[in-house]
Amino acid sequence: MILQDRLVSTLLKLICIDSPTGHEEAIARDLVARLKALGLVVAQDTTGNVIARLDGTGKHDGDAPLLLSAHMDTVGTDTGIQPIVEAGIIRSDGTTILGADDKSGLAVILEVLQVLSTAGLAHPPLEVVFTVGEEEGLLGAKALDLSQLRAREGVVLDSGGPIGTIIVSAPYQDKLFVTVHGRAAHAGAEPERGINAIRVAAEAVAAMPLGRIDEETTANVGLIRGGVATNIVPDKAELHSEARSRDEAKLIAQMQAMRAALEEAAARHEATLDLRQERSYDGFSLSPETPVVKRAVGAAEALGIAPLLVPSGGGSDANILNSGGIATINLSTGMAEVHTVKENIFIEDMVQSARLLLRIVAPARA
Ligand SMILES: [Zn+2]
Repeated sequence: MILQDRLVSTLLKLICIDSPTGHEEAIARDLVARLKALGLVVAQDTTGNVIARLDGTGKHDGDAPLLLSAHMDTVGTDTGIQPIVEAGIIRSDGTTILGADDKSGLAVILEVLQVLSTAGLAHPPLEVVFTVGEEEGLLGAKALDLSQLRAREGVVLDSGGPIGTIIVSAPYQDKLFVTVHGRAAHAGAEPERGINAIRVAAEAVAAMPLGRIDEETTANVGLIRGGVATNIVPDKAELHSEARSRDEAKLIAQMQAMRAALEEAAARHEATLDLRQERSYDGFSLSPETPVVKRAVGAAEALGIAPLLVPSGGGSDANILNSGGIATINLSTGMAEVHTVKENIFIEDMVQSARLLLRIVAPARA
């Protein structure tokens, strides 16, 4: 019932509508029209998220609603993307991303809705949310008014890996923005009057635990800048860093260790610090007994696909939905090498992903 040609054609059309983060208006218009044509009741919130509803049918019409979600924006600023279909693979022309992240998620959801509307399969009430601004920090999902949603279970289509990959946990993430304040002085005439902010930052970074801390915790300093010229002792250095862990207590300890390294280096040199720490998103962890996880595992097994319950190293809209009380898994659409010009997707993977989602939504038959 999933039609490969229709699914591919939907994806190609969506890819050809530019939608870098912050510029989702055109794709939102297209998606609103498509959802309306499929019989959904569609609205847009003030942030630009598209929210649509479809009544349940048949023996599932009174079931609890299920949320289906993907994001409309693409990473970075690439526009004019030229998708190329070759040997069963869709890729870009090599000069831009492809945007299968996350337009394959949008296309898979649309294909499943299309099948539901034409094949008359019994299904629960559905709530469909297409978000803006995911790539810039889950902005659309964070702005969603979750009290407007009835669903308490959801499926996000926004990851890669073999079809059957079901992300059931994801990390908490904190960011730390730091300015080291030293004191400027002439580097040749009187360096002893200066406090070298770059040196303080460097000593702090060198003392920090970074990289893979343990199986569920990572940390990174991703940006450092400061200084004016070789002959000036720099009075300022800036440093941006992050850490993630699926265990919140470990994240808190890691952030403390990074701050301690900064405070010790600053104290050694009598520099001062401005520190701003913020939570990017909360993590989540769903047990295999969670109904939406069981539903996805059952659907995969029914199709002969091996279900893979895996943790994610990154955040997605699923983090925000889970924090808001909607138990949400994140499924693979087959997207690969995302956020690079080598991004690609195997058509057969995307078709299998649609079959799997259809089976999750309409478990009776697919
Ligand atoms: Zn994505």
